[in-house]
Amino acid sequence: MSLLGNAPGGFVEVAGPLPIRHTFTYRIPSRLSGALQVGSRVVVPFQRRKLTGLVLEVHDRNPEVEAKPLLEQVDPEPILGAKLLELGRWISDYYLAAPGEVFRVMLPPGLLGRKRPEKKKYWPSKRRLAIVKLAARPPRSLTSRQQEIWLELQKRTLPVLLAGFCRQVGCGDDVLRRMADQGALEIEKVDVYRSPFDEAGADQAEVRHVLTSEQSAAWGEIRKALDRGGFQRMLLFGVTGSGKTEVYLNAIERVLEKGQSALVLVPEIGLTPQMSRAFRSWFGDQVAIQHSGLSDGERFDQWRRIRSGRCRVVVGTRSAVFTPLAKLGMIIVDEEHDSSYKQEEMPRYHGRDTALKRGQLEDALVLLGSATPQLETFHGALEKKRFRCLKIPKRILDRPMPTVHVVDMRHEFERHGKAALFSTLLEDGIGRRLQLRQQVLILLNRRGYAAAVLCRSCGGTETCPHCSISLTHHLDWNRLLCHYCGYARSLPEKCRECGKPYIYYVGEGTEKIQQWLEGRFPEARIDRLDRDSVRRRGSLQRILSRFAGHRTDILVGTQMIAKGHDFPQVTLVGVLSAEMGLRIADFRAAERTFQLLTQVSGRAGRGEEPGDVIVQTYYPNHYSLKYACQQDYEEFYRREVVFRSRFRYPPFTALANLVVRGEKREEVRDLAASLAQSLKRHRKTHSDPQRLRILGPAPAALERLRKEYRHQILIKTTNRAELHRVLGGALGEVDGSSRRRIVVDVDPVNLL
Ligand code: ADP
Ligand code: ZN
Repeated sequence: MSLLGNAPGGFVEVAGPLPIRHTFTYRIPSRLSGALQVGSRVVVPFQRRKLTGLVLEVHDRNPEVEAKPLLEQVDPEPILGAKLLELGRWISDYYLAAPGEVFRVMLPPGLLGRKRPEKKKYWPSKRRLAIVKLAARPPRSLTSRQQEIWLELQKRTLPVLLAGFCRQVGCGDDVLRRMADQGALEIEKVDVYRSPFDEAGADQAEVRHVLTSEQSAAWGEIRKALDRGGFQRMLLFGVTGSGKTEVYLNAIERVLEKGQSALVLVPEIGLTPQMSRAFRSWFGDQVAIQHSGLSDGERFDQWRRIRSGRCRVVVGTRSAVFTPLAKLGMIIVDEEHDSSYKQEEMPRYHGRDTALKRGQLEDALVLLGSATPQLETFHGALEKKRFRCLKIPKRILDRPMPTVHVVDMRHEFERHGKAALFSTLLEDGIGRRLQLRQQVLILLNRRGYAAAVLCRSCGGTETCPHCSISLTHHLDWNRLLCHYCGYARSLPEKCRECGKPYIYYVGEGTEKIQQWLEGRFPEARIDRLDRDSVRRRGSLQRILSRFAGHRTDILVGTQMIAKGHDFPQVTLVGVLSAEMGLRIADFRAAERTFQLLTQVSGRAGRGEEPGDVIVQTYYPNHYSLKYACQQDYEEFYRREVVFRSRFRYPPFTALANLVVRGEKREEVRDLAASLAQSLKRHRKTHSDPQRLRILGPAPAALERLRKEYRHQILIKTTNRAELHRVLGGALGEVDGSSRRRIVVDVDPVNLL
């Protein structure tokens, strides 16, 4: 066996883009003898198709059945280097994922697939595009929408691409062409390389702050670690508003000085444009920002640019962990606790844990940052000394943490004799901020207008026909919607069960909150940020930039408003139904609630004016609410870790969640039962019930999802090696068609 390039092997092991856990052996035809390298692509015959797969090994072992010859070589050189190949193998082993599927997500879309990828689609480096420029003369008689566009365009100094700009401001190109006809702007065609070079921030002046003494202390430690070199793990545990970004920027600068490159992972790029802007202004063209607005072609060009060494800083979401940066010196995982780092489809890898593995393979520093680290991470730092923990316990410039007030809604109910959406304290608070021309954020972590539709006569509810979940009333759509599968139904006039017209709506969502605020504060400019309101292209950026520019006074939203934003003029954050997340049947419910409340509170008082947070709840005594209100992560940790230890949850055990799904209930139940039996048999050989517990099978909390029934088996173990042996053994016995109905999730983030 050889992992080196041109071994004189006669066979190759190929990972195809298929959900199959093993690789396939092909014979190397004599014309290609000696030419094939590990990490390059080949076209192979598979059943009656042709597939593009990746060479994982070149060897001389004669297979038992005769191997077919491979058909052609696609890349003369490897497209994945040795370390990324190694990382892919690790993911495939650790998460029990098919190697071909792992490598598919590690490469730009379309590189592994059905047949040889279209050359035309991927290799042109030049295109003719239209560029938008402002006219010399200021425009006259523009509509207010056109004015908005004109002002937006005026902010940019670099060339602006027509299509990209339309996307960002959310208009069609006909709007711009009409403005060009009126003389307000010019559109011209030029040759350009595909690159999103009108990205925000490239034209911004660099803003550097003198680090506070707390920031300096943390930065000093990171600097020492970078100068030492080698694989190291650090946790930057800094409260909200402590200026973690500034520390990252200093660290990256040092990495670049050393001639190395840096990778920065963030949960969602669109939500924190100010962060991308800061990177752009410090490092200019050396930064590649991987946002979801990129087309496949743009993504591919960017990937090539990075591989050729022209970008040395990459900022991106989860999958950016696979970026082929050479001489990687540091990986930063910002907001490391964020659940969006976990991929919820095959391969189910965790971006943070993959980053740690990559850091180890590349001898790089891995720096995780958060104000609310995931419990496992903090435990790893505190008890296991796996991470060096750098604390920033104070906000920049000694700005105070916000003051938190808890309103017990049970008292509010007694006082008013009815359930109110807003307590008097919060209502008055909003009114006062509006008078002071300050901004307000209101969090309610449920979108839609009303949570459920009930019948007063028979107690029936409107549920999704495909999922075991009640339908949510959406005013924008004037429909009932399923939040899991998107099923929509018109509003009922009478009960589906008993036929009586006594329908009523319960539980409020963000739409209702927005409506209430508009009625109560008619003079205020109010906006909403949730998955519905950002559905249209460009609307996310529009909502955020309106709020950042104080063209909105109140922003209502779901957890999207809690993420990393830095809006200095927000002085009041209101939280409605703070206990909502605690009702979810998941051992992480308390932790998630704590994180959400701490993060959203952290949006208040980041500027010169101090901030207040008003938390409304029917359940004020729960510890996650209590400690979130005190902004005391460490107390929360001490309390939560006791629960985790007593009930044997992570970090005291490792979990694997197996979900068997299918349209026929009996088949699902039977397959789950036989899988559990098989797991138990393999446990006899490789482990024992003390160290490896098998819970279930049982119907999943969400028993039906998208027309499928779901049964669940949860494995808790103190020994990962045994987990892999037991799982591998049991899954190896399952036939191909059943295997497709079993979802294996190692280190699950979501247990529903
Ligand atoms: P965190 O991510 O820790 O919540 P940010 O990195 O978003 O905090 O920083 C919060 C704000 O403080 C930003 O507007 C940033 O520009 C500003 N800031 C950071 N460091 C300093 C400093 N040393 N002096 C003044 N302002 C700073
Ligand atoms: Zn549904």
